[in-house]
Amino acid sequence: MERHASRFFTAEANRSLQRAKIYFGPYKEMAAVREKAIAIPTDLPSTITPRDIYTAAFNGTQVTLWNKLPRPEGSQWIGLPDEETPVWFQHEKGAVLPAWNLFANILGLLTFREEMEITTRDSHGRFMAAMSPRSKAGLLEVPAFNEAVAIVVAGCLGLEREDRPAFDLTNCVTNPGVILSHDVDILLGNDLWTQSIRLYRMFAPLARMKAPDFANAKWIVANFRQPGRYYLDDIKRLVDAERFHGARSSFYLLNGAAGRFGARSGSRMISEAVKHIPDGWNTGMHYNYDTFLSEDRFQRQVSELSDILRARPVSGRGHYLRFDARESFRFLVRQGILCDETAGYADRIGYRCGVAGFFQPFDETQGKALPIWEIPLVIMEGNLVEQYQDEGIEAFSRMLRHVSKVGGALSVLFHPGLYCNPEFPETAGLYDRLLAVIARERAVAVSCRDLLNT
Ligand SMILES: [Zn+2]
Repeated sequence: MERHASRFFTAEANRSLQRAKIYFGPYKEMAAVREKAIAIPTDLPSTITPRDIYTAAFNGTQVTLWNKLPRPEGSQWIGLPDEETPVWFQHEKGAVLPAWNLFANILGLLTFREEMEITTRDSHGRFMAAMSPRSKAGLLEVPAFNEAVAIVVAGCLGLEREDRPAFDLTNCVTNPGVILSHDVDILLGNDLWTQSIRLYRMFAPLARMKAPDFANAKWIVANFRQPGRYYLDDIKRLVDAERFHGARSSFYLLNGAAGRFGARSGSRMISEAVKHIPDGWNTGMHYNYDTFLSEDRFQRQVSELSDILRARPVSGRGHYLRFDARESFRFLVRQGILCDETAGYADRIGYRCGVAGFFQPFDETQGKALPIWEIPLVIMEGNLVEQYQDEGIEAFSRMLRHVSKVGGALSVLFHPGLYCNPEFPETAGLYDRLLAVIARERAVAVSCRDLLNT
């Protein structure tokens, strides 16, 4: 909470947070606090199925809370901002208790409790958004961690100024961040796999007694003639667009084993791609499909990429977003990764950990935080257009505006091969529009490295 607040709230707000008395402990003790303090119960049970979902007005937006806590007994307590949808219960002597299970909700999200309890996975071993109980409840686009921190910060500021929690953070939240990254899956569009998939798509309609889709022939020929077109060639254009908008990003490079799920273009062209990535931009590793939890293969990929980059990659994201909540963090720490952006959903946009920003995962076996920063992926371009069709830009603006009210940063993944590729008209041109929204909302668009260094 402190590291998050130091990045996304002003110095004044941070001083107030530091000065405030915040207690964590059993409900009985918390309800017995009688001084001006925030008292957060840590022993009240909850389940991964959200109950009593409600919203409350907060700093010009709506926060969404769930798992209500019992109201402390006695007439000395009042609900704030009102009795109907309380965010806090305050005792007349000043003590303030959250009205929802802040501690269990947030701890559950930061420790992937849903996917520890639900064992279903897809064919790539992934926990999908559709498997989360929050999906049914419509809560996947609620950055619950950010909202909780914002509520606590406003609580501290209000207690200090007026002996009562505030619900407003005017001039206390810093500009929102957007963490941009690109998984460089394909550099040349003429590899056997990409061309075979097109050939398949061309004739697949025949199986349904429909005419072949000859548009695919066009892309086969286009990439046969100019293999880098729409892929390698677009990296430079993408960087130019970012530069124009004052943005920077990360490129996660896929090298190592080739194949349908592997590095389709091989490693040969990566040094060409790197020439287009200027200083100040971040380069990292797109962990190949077959390196998932395999030390040998991961290290082989690291060493090959280190030779190409002339530096060891310390940031990255898993290809196909392969991630295991129990093992991945400790594994990545052992591989020398300091910053990972994998923990998002492959099937929709949203907050897998309830976090818009970054956090250090907690290792229960060691009883301490691991030396790695997770920046959970929030938005992948394909999911944005699939979920919201023509309203993808509006959905993105809405999420960014909300984050600007509660403090935080959105991690956005855009594949270079979808930047300006007429084969995929839904995403062609979308990135420029996203960059324009980012500039309009005065968000700071950076790479993970920039974010963690500030
Ligand atoms: Zn990938």
